[in-house]
Amino acid sequence: MTSARTRNRLVQRLIDQGIRSEAVLNQIRNVPRHLFVDEALASRAYEDTALPIGLGQTISQPYIVARMTEALLGGFQGEVVLEIGTGCGYQTAVLAPLVKKIYTVERIHELMRKTRQRLRDLDIYNVQYRPGDGWEGWSKYGPYDGIIVTAAPPTIPEKLLQQLAPGGRLIIPIGEQGRQELTMITNKNDHFQQTSLGAVSFVPLVHGK
Ligand code: SAH
Repeated sequence: MTSARTRNRLVQRLIDQGIRSEAVLNQIRNVPRHLFVDEALASRAYEDTALPIGLGQTISQPYIVARMTEALLGGFQGEVVLEIGTGCGYQTAVLAPLVKKIYTVERIHELMRKTRQRLRDLDIYNVQYRPGDGWEGWSKYGPYDGIIVTAAPPTIPEKLLQQLAPGGRLIIPIGEQGRQELTMITNKNDHFQQTSLGAVSFVPLVHGK
């Protein structure tokens, strides 16, 4: 169930759906997604679908992870990224080797603790973790070349715009539950340019710790 054939089938599906970046496709092929879900669900880990990971949270669908990573990296390479909504760390693991450093924020401490250990076990060391409220971003290490948000706020958090470097990109699902728009926001110095990347469904970006 974790065979090369199963993983290649997933990669082919993403190519068919329009993912073009070789670097991103390689990461989808190489990151062992079955280690991010409960053993009971491991047989479904290479299906292109979101799955529950406990504590009311989900692991994102591979297509969406690939799409967001590709959109983020279209603007720059090898730089510093802020991630909001670490969850099980699958998106973090896909992105980590493609950038210099990831600062990641998750509000559920228990999830964060497990994820930190999981990514260490996978020899991923360029990630710094913070249990906290993603609405605040992480100003200490900003501004960031890229910001990727994997939970949906109803409106764009102002603090995230403030922490986006000139030329930087913010990839974020925006809207109420069940009807969100994946959005790319580019900091053009004198204004923010907004582009829609299509409909998505994420858990809400909850307010407060
Ligand atoms: N990135 C994950 C999916 C995360 S699901 C993956 O690759 O599979 C969304 C995550 O956002 C959940 O873990 C949830 O706890 C977290 N979250 C929700 N609101 C938050 C907030 N205000 N600050 C930080 N994390 C938040």
